[in-house]
Order: sequence, then structure tokens, then C-alpha cells
Amino acid sequence: MKKMSILCKSTECTGCTACMAICPVDAIEMKYNEQGFLYPSVDEMKCIYCGACNLVVQKLDHHMEEETHKEPPIHYYAARLCDETERMRSQSGGLFYALASMIIQSGGLVYGCAYLENFHVGHTVAATMEELQKMRGSKYVQSDMRNCYRQIEQNLKAGKEVLFSGTPCQCAGIEAYLEQKRVSKDKFYSCDIICHGVPSPGIFEQYLKLMEAKYQGKLERVNLRDKAAASWHNPIEKLVFDNNTVYQGTLFGELFYSNLAQRMCCQTCKYTTINRPSDITIGDCWGIEKIHPELWNDETGISVALIQTKKGEKLFERAMSYLDVIELPSYTQPQLENPAVVPKQKERFWRDYQKLSFECLLKKYTSYGGIRLKIKRKLLRIMNKW
Ligand SMILES: Cc1cc2nc3c(=O)[nH]c(=O)nc-3n(C[C@H](O)[C@H](O)[C@H](O)COP(=O)(O)OP(=O)(O)OC[C@H]3O[C@@H](n4cnc5c(N)ncnc54)[C@H](O)[C@@H]3O)c2cc1C
Ligand code: SF4
Ligand code: SF4
Ligand code: SF4
Repeated sequence: MKKMSILCKSTECTGCTACMAICPVDAIEMKYNEQGFLYPSVDEMKCIYCGACNLVVQKLDHHMEEETHKEPPIHYYAARLCDETERMRSQSGGLFYALASMIIQSGGLVYGCAYLENFHVGHTVAATMEELQKMRGSKYVQSDMRNCYRQIEQNLKAGKEVLFSGTPCQCAGIEAYLEQKRVSKDKFYSCDIICHGVPSPGIFEQYLKLMEAKYQGKLERVNLRDKAAASWHNPIEKLVFDNNTVYQGTLFGELFYSNLAQRMCCQTCKYTTINRPSDITIGDCWGIEKIHPELWNDETGISVALIQTKKGEKLFERAMSYLDVIELPSYTQPQLENPAVVPKQKERFWRDYQKLSFECLLKKYTSYGGIRLKIKRKLLRIMNKW
């Protein structure tokens, strides 16, 4: 009997790539949609109706149901790298860097998100401490998973220890993929980040192009949340061009925090809970100042860790020598409770994205264009015309 290729509903598809990676005849390709996000597309001419993609989709759903009924995390910690210089190179307190360093130093491999060629945001692998550096820092864009699920399968079959880091939906994808392929997960660790939602790679690409044109230089460095230029609580973005000009500001951050440019699935995200499809959940320890006002009060960054599994606990213990650690009785923040709020202009934003130039779009939805435009928009909003 033919088993059809049934994928997740497009409103729920996270772009995790589990279906693409599982397909035995490469009939599924990830293609950009009109909003600049990658979605799977089935080539019916290649499909042999084996049903493998449908099974992995069911595993994803099942996995999440099981997770939500699981016990709460085993431990909660506030943690940060002891070395202040190293801490400043990471986004929060550097917990990912500590965990990843342990894996690399034991001869293992780490998969995480980096800026690739032309600042394309994608997942890549690190086997050395030098290669690990490019994964540090948050890239507030959906990461292109490329073919890393299949690579991880090969690494695990070759007996390597592997750490995968990504959003919870990406961790759910790789966990479901490995289960379906019956690959032993004894040497596999997953570390998810607390996730607010991911903006469109298409928008990010256009944003960088616009800034290169405005600053008449080629981008050399991008940091969407530079702690050093401001502080951990109030970071700013920094773009450095090859003609020695520098942009420091908040433009892309305004799009990110407004939730306008997020992927559709983020508005009903299934992973906004403390029980996650990973071994360790990490994030910014927002609110620590209320629990421990006296603690590490220097704006260099503090991580939070939710230890989800015994395996995660063992990995955390291995990294302890790099970390200052305080155990917390519990921990939460809005992104662990509910999906980020969808602004009422979101539909209009995407309509405008199709019809306006990118510069006009930024003028309309961010502070790009300066104070006069902002005042005009505010007036129009008061008059209910925007
Ligand atoms: C889109 C996004 C939304 C986030 N929202 C929140 C939030 O609401 N609340 C909160 O507490 N924390 C949030 N974070 C997590 C936080 O910003 C830090 O990334 C996290 O605490 C790790 O910091 P670190 O110092 O341990 O890691 P670092 O040493 O700085 O390493 C960065 C880690 O983040 C991963 N990463 C970076 N960009 C991406 C990406 N685009 N997709 C997948 N993985 C990525 C890397 O693979 C690496 O594991 C978000 C991160 C991203 C990327
Ligand atoms: S398995 Fe992942 S990429 Fe494939 S349809 Fe489902 S969410 Fe989308
Ligand atoms: S049914 Fe099988 S061959 Fe067809 S797309 Fe799905 S995994 Fe590929
Ligand atoms: S908000 Fe949820 S669905 Fe969106 S990227 Fe994050 S984990 Fe995935």
C-alpha cells in the first residue's frame, strides 16, 4: 500500500528538516517561501511513497506530548564562566561555551549556529576550540540546518561524542530523527536555548544589503547583541564595515523584539514550557537580580540552566570547573510560559514586505528614518490611520 508524504501543517512547520533528512530518495528539498523562510517541498516525481516523512512528523508530535507530561527539570542553576574575558565573548553567561568546550576537549564534535559565508545564518560543526568561537553569540534569525542531521547520524555511528545546540524545535527535530533511524543516543547531548521566536532569513539578508549600501562598505563583522558596546541587560547591535565605518544601534533588534518578522509557527510555539525536548535548556537568567540582588551584579552576563535529563546533569557536572554556579529552587520567564505576543500589525507587515521597498518597510516599522518620521507615525496611529 502506498504511504503518502504527509508533512506538518505549514502554520506549524518549524523548518527543522527532520522530514528532509529522513527521506531515503531525497525527494524533499527545503525552499524559501515568499517571507524568506525555508519550508520543505516534496518532489512527487521522486517520492516512492515509503511514509518515512510521515512517521518522523508523528514522532515529533508524540515526543512533545511525552515531554509535556514529564517531570519538571532535575535542577535549575544560575551559572557563568569564571573567566570574565571569555564570558564577555559569549551572549549570556557563556554556559554553552563551557559545555561545548568539554565535548571538544574529549575529542567530540559540537553542532551550533554560526555566521557562514556572506553572514548567512546556518548550523555548522566544530571539532576544535578555534572552530567553536564562531558559534558564540546569538544570531536573531532562523538558522539554516543544512544537512547536519545526517552528519550527526554518521558521527554517532562512528562512535563520536556529539553536542547539538539550537532552538527547542531544532532539538526536537534531531531527537526524532535519531530515534526513527534507531541511532544510539548514548553519546549524544542536546542543548536548547530559551527561544523568543526566529525572524526571517530573507529579511536579515535584505537588512544587511541595505546597511552595506548606506555605509558604502562591505560588512566585516556582525554582532546583533553586543554586550561590550553597552551591557548585558541593554545590549546594542554593532555592524563593522571594511571602510572602517561602524553602525551601532537597535534597528534589527526592533524587528526582532516586535515579533513582526517571526516565523508563523512561533506564534503558537509548542515549546514554551519548562519541560523541553533536550538534555539541558540554557538562556539568559533574566530576573536573577530579584532572586539574588547581591549576585554577580556587573552586567557581564548570567546564564540559566534547566537540567532536563540525567545525561544533561552529567555534562553539566563535567563543565563545573569552568563555571561559577548557584542552584536555584525554580526558574521561569515569559518565554517558558507562553509564545511571544503577536502584534496586530503582523499581517499588514507581511503585505507591506511584498509591496514596499525594504527601506520603506524599515521606515514604517522601525526607528529607521529618524525622529520626524516616528512622530508622524505616532500621530497617524492616534488618528487610527496606521
Ligand atoms: C532567536 C533567539 C531567541 C532567544 N530568545 C531568548 C529569550 O527569550 N530568553 C532567553 O533567556 N534567552 C533567549 N535566547 C538565548 C540567549 O540569547 C543565548 O543565546 C543563550 O543564553 C546562550 O548564551 P551562552 O552565553 O550560553 O552561549 P554562547 O557561548 O554565546 O553561544 C551561543 C549559543 O546560541 C546558539 N545560537 C545562536 N544563534 C542561534 C540561532 N539563530 N538558532 C539556534 N541557535 C542559536 C549557538 O548555537 C550557541 O549554542 C535566544 C536566542 C536566540 C538565538
Ligand atoms: S518535520 Fe520539521 S521541516 Fe518537516 S514539516 Fe515537520 S516541522 Fe517542517
Ligand atoms: S513518502 Fe518517503 S519518499 Fe516520499 S517524500 Fe516522504 S520520505 Fe520521501
Ligand atoms: S519560538 Fe518555538 S517554534 Fe519558534 S523557533 Fe523558537 S522554539 Fe521554534
